[in-house]
Amino acid sequence: MPVIGLEVHAQLRTDSKLFCGCSTDYHDAEPNTHTCEVCLGMPGALPVMNESALDFGLRVSLALGCEVVEEQLFYRKNYFYPDLPKNFQITQYEFPVGVDGSITIQAGDGERAVGVRRVHLEEDPGRIVHMRNRSLLDYNRSGVPLLEIVTEPDMESPEEGREFLQRLRTTLEYLGVFEPLDGAMRADANVSIEGGSRVEVKNISSHRGAERALRYEITRQRNMLKRGSEAVLETRHFDEETGVTRPMRTKEEEADYRYFPEPNLPLIRVDEGMAGAAAEGVPELPDQRRERFREEYGVTDEHAKRLTAEKELADFYEDVAEAVEPRAAASHVVDELLGELNYRELSLDEWFEGVGRETAVEWETEIVEMLRGGEITDVSATDVLRDVLDEGRSPAAVVDEKGLTMEGADEALKCVEEVIGEHRETVEDYLSGKEEALNFLVGQVVRRSRGKISPREASDLFDERLEEEK
Ligand SMILES: [Zn+2]
Repeated sequence: MPVIGLEVHAQLRTDSKLFCGCSTDYHDAEPNTHTCEVCLGMPGALPVMNESALDFGLRVSLALGCEVVEEQLFYRKNYFYPDLPKNFQITQYEFPVGVDGSITIQAGDGERAVGVRRVHLEEDPGRIVHMRNRSLLDYNRSGVPLLEIVTEPDMESPEEGREFLQRLRTTLEYLGVFEPLDGAMRADANVSIEGGSRVEVKNISSHRGAERALRYEITRQRNMLKRGSEAVLETRHFDEETGVTRPMRTKEEEADYRYFPEPNLPLIRVDEGMAGAAAEGVPELPDQRRERFREEYGVTDEHAKRLTAEKELADFYEDVAEAVEPRAAASHVVDELLGELNYRELSLDEWFEGVGRETAVEWETEIVEMLRGGEITDVSATDVLRDVLDEGRSPAAVVDEKGLTMEGADEALKCVEEVIGEHRETVEDYLSGKEEALNFLVGQVVRRSRGKISPREASDLFDERLEEEK
């Protein structure tokens, strides 16, 4: 069984940086415009602790069931690298924000708690942009607050690593302390297999990437063992594009960093007021919401789980369920909408951006209502949803124009019957396995309905009608 532990860095969504007033919004900014003497590491500049970063750290610690450390201290971690102009990173070391928490993940058929050893705050370094023959530095990111979450080596497969990252990400989103942008969450993994040395894999930037990186690394270590050699204690870099890990510089020992307390920052005392305020900032979390969905809306556990896996989706579902029967809404959202979005590689967010969130809720409600009221058939509902997504038109407009009402459906069915009656030989061909015979039949229906029935719909209707004869 492989042994896997993760160290996750998540950027906190504060307005300003961890130790200065510069904006944390570096995504659209010109390079080096959100900087000052503190985050550029000028000699003599004094850091001032950002209280909302600490508040966010406390909320995460509480949500993960950690024990809050009452007296916290920042340290200097010394190392030289161009993205770190003052040659040390300010980070919490012996006295972090929280210790001893856990996250429950799906493991095989059951669930298992993965221990969270510690949660601590630190500053992000700057960003190096490598070009063909030079490297450029952007310090807009320098000093952005990071929360590092370190797990116990409790995971046993790449899937579990992926599941952990997904759960953590959802929890951070629910807490409102994290903006799920590219690069806002990065992870390093420690991996070893039976009797082998521990290898650290750096530069994992997504939960999908994590699964790939872990799978590659485990296979590599197993192959080495088979050939009679053994993985050495080292740090490797994961290349997202090729999906392989490559050796990096040898790992610094902890002593190489010469940690010592940051003399310009005072001891932080977390009093009852701060802890209380943070506790109030912890909303209903994914597992609690899942439980409530089952009780309040009577949806299946599988639906409840899927719906609460993303905060955005859970909010959307609740808005729809307010207007229509909740169970019907749950099955349509999970079984139809998510599938069609996924097929188009469209996220819920992107769909909202296109048509507006309110409209999206309205349209989804409309489709479920029409289905429930028996105004359209299941087949037409799928057709409507596809047009709604592809063409950005309202369900009512699609139904009207295509004549997809029940009467329209009756017409369509009648049309299909007629074609079957008139072209029995072709039908037999199709039934005996000649797939292309279906094209002819579909063409007949489309022509007869003067295009009112789409080829896709006609084909679905034939499938349904001829299913029993096959
Ligand atoms: Zn600054």
